[in-house]
Amino acid sequence: MELAREAEEPPGSPALPAEEPQGGHPTGAPAADGPVPSAAGRGRCRRGAGPKGPPGRAVRGRGRRAPGRRGGEEGGRAVRRPRVTVDSSKAKTSLEALKISLRQLHWREYPFGRRLPCDIYWHGVSFHDNNIFSGQVNKFPGMTEMVRKVTLSRAVRTMQDLFPLEYNFYPRSWILPEELPLFVDEVRMMKDSDPSWKPTFIVKPDGGCQGDGIYLIKDPSDIRQTGSIQSRPAVVQEYICKPLLVDKLKFDIRLYVLLKSLEPLEIYIAKDGLSRFCTEPYQEPTLKNLHQVFMHLTNYSLNIHSGNFIHSDSVNTGSKRTFSSILCRLSSRGADVKKLWSDIISLVIKTIIALTPELKVYYQSDIPAGKPGPTCFQILGFDILLMKNLKPMLLEVNANPSMRIEHEQELSPGVFENVPSPVDEEVKVAVIRDTLRLMDPQNKKRKDIQSGALPCLSNCLCYLFPGHQGSDLCQDGPSQRLRNKCQTSEHVSEANEDLLDIGPADGPEHETTRTLEPELPSLCLKQVFPKYAKQFNYLRIVDRVAALFIRFLGVKGTTKLGPTGFRTFIRNCKLSNSNFSMACVDILYIDITRRRNGMGMDHRESGMCLQAFVEAFFCLAQKKYKSLPLHQQVTLLIDFCEYQLAVLDEKRRAVCHADGPHLTPATHPSLLGRSASASKLSDYRNHR
Ligand code: ADP
Repeated sequence: MELAREAEEPPGSPALPAEEPQGGHPTGAPAADGPVPSAAGRGRCRRGAGPKGPPGRAVRGRGRRAPGRRGGEEGGRAVRRPRVTVDSSKAKTSLEALKISLRQLHWREYPFGRRLPCDIYWHGVSFHDNNIFSGQVNKFPGMTEMVRKVTLSRAVRTMQDLFPLEYNFYPRSWILPEELPLFVDEVRMMKDSDPSWKPTFIVKPDGGCQGDGIYLIKDPSDIRQTGSIQSRPAVVQEYICKPLLVDKLKFDIRLYVLLKSLEPLEIYIAKDGLSRFCTEPYQEPTLKNLHQVFMHLTNYSLNIHSGNFIHSDSVNTGSKRTFSSILCRLSSRGADVKKLWSDIISLVIKTIIALTPELKVYYQSDIPAGKPGPTCFQILGFDILLMKNLKPMLLEVNANPSMRIEHEQELSPGVFENVPSPVDEEVKVAVIRDTLRLMDPQNKKRKDIQSGALPCLSNCLCYLFPGHQGSDLCQDGPSQRLRNKCQTSEHVSEANEDLLDIGPADGPEHETTRTLEPELPSLCLKQVFPKYAKQFNYLRIVDRVAALFIRFLGVKGTTKLGPTGFRTFIRNCKLSNSNFSMACVDILYIDITRRRNGMGMDHRESGMCLQAFVEAFFCLAQKKYKSLPLHQQVTLLIDFCEYQLAVLDEKRRAVCHADGPHLTPATHPSLLGRSASASKLSDYRNHR
């Protein structure tokens, strides 16, 4: 536990001492458990060869085969097992890193696709790159839409309404054009109440990337009111004026996060990421320097065009460095990197909790329960800015983070060549390779056999981090009741540990992986959920609203609720009464749906989207349970609805049984946990 030790040893002050000169050698202990410093001499993955041994030569042992196992490891020697097949025909710019990973794993690549199904499909862009009916694909349906600037801001806003303190890691944002008047009013009010407040805002077009179309303003009246603001929505956000600087430069962090499964929720974070630097010394924004992109925007794609950009062979100098090298440096200055890492884990988990409800709606629409389809996983790129006080702030989430491991270099004037980028290779190959290791279908099978088919497959790859005790942040909170059934005893067994523990994956599960792949380094991806489920489950209430929404969607394949579906929801949950007639229900539906659709976000399908349903649900909750905090009102209404539906399901089941044993109750296969009505009923009764 190097990181833990590191955090115990230094003076541990969050305020940073003065900058050390550039190139100063970090003296902090290597953070082997968290992001690992990439000190020279650490084994780097070389192209074309595994970490040890020549390329393409699988190490095959002659050990006895264990009874009942098709492949595996005996006495430290690998046993022949069917090679995992990967379709890389759509990998696009991630192809190079993928190829290296597959070589290291000795898996079989199909660069032009395959007539037979593959185990894994690696897509460069989106879930819809192909028609796939089995195996695993590295994209979730709807993810690209979900992480667009406007959608992400809305999803986080919903969570900020419910849990303002927990979600204060996202800058205050307004959605344009619809919230322009609100933005103008709020800024005027804040300026009136504090005349010394001299804010700066950053305007970011929706769906933009690589800094495209981004500009800074000092006043709402500076928003460029061209035709484009109407046709292309944008987010305007409070600009973080006091970022942490290294070598006097602003930088941001790109962290790689694996969403391994949506239900049950499984999240892994890569121990190392990248830090992308600006190329001009930072100054707080003034009217004079607002337009200086090399000072204010950290995008690699912009700064590479600056004359000051430094390509570096080393991982701790230059304009792109490993995050671990930054942590080392901070640690040597006495910063509390242990707390920083814990805050980052918390930011990642909370952000994904904000995204999951809508992702589940997309999922059931694209892969309805019962229809053949692949299972999904996805590597996300989290862009995080550190404030001067070391607080991490979320800038955005990328559904398709660049996995390129080379960059273009001008060798002589006008002559360009793609040259390898050691920093990118070091971080990205490890992320792809270890994602594949975690998704290895044979691990799943093996684990099923060993455990006698666990009800919850996610358990297969949980790491157990033994021996750490810490604060349980939410022991008395509502998390107990809200805890997903699937994640109870097995998954939360380790949840008493605090978020600071990112120790090596040396539990029994890891042992299995390590002995099966003797040549590979330990996994760079660390599980953070369900490992820390107990601390965060109380935040997952919109997930439960989404489960209600999905139940009433009716026809499979849709993402929007029609007026009839909404009425059925109200009726089945017994939400209408003399004070709230069905006519009021219709008005509520029309009001919210018209306003949402008027925002011009999605005209493809008419009806009520999840975010509109959530708004309606919050309205109903406020009506029914006045004068409580919003999250309590919403939780009470969810409990009430789930109870009513459980009663209804029980009645239906009783009718079915009365009709004869050949009739089975109309329960859903529960891909997204939409039934489980009996347990909801007893939960509610116990709770009451
Ligand atoms: P893009 O998808 O175009 O890269 P980002 O949201 O990542 O858009 O913003 C681009 C860059 O602008 C970021 O890398 C960061 O350097 C800067 N930036 C974005 N939002 C803020 C903010 N609220 N405060 C300070 N800097 C920001």
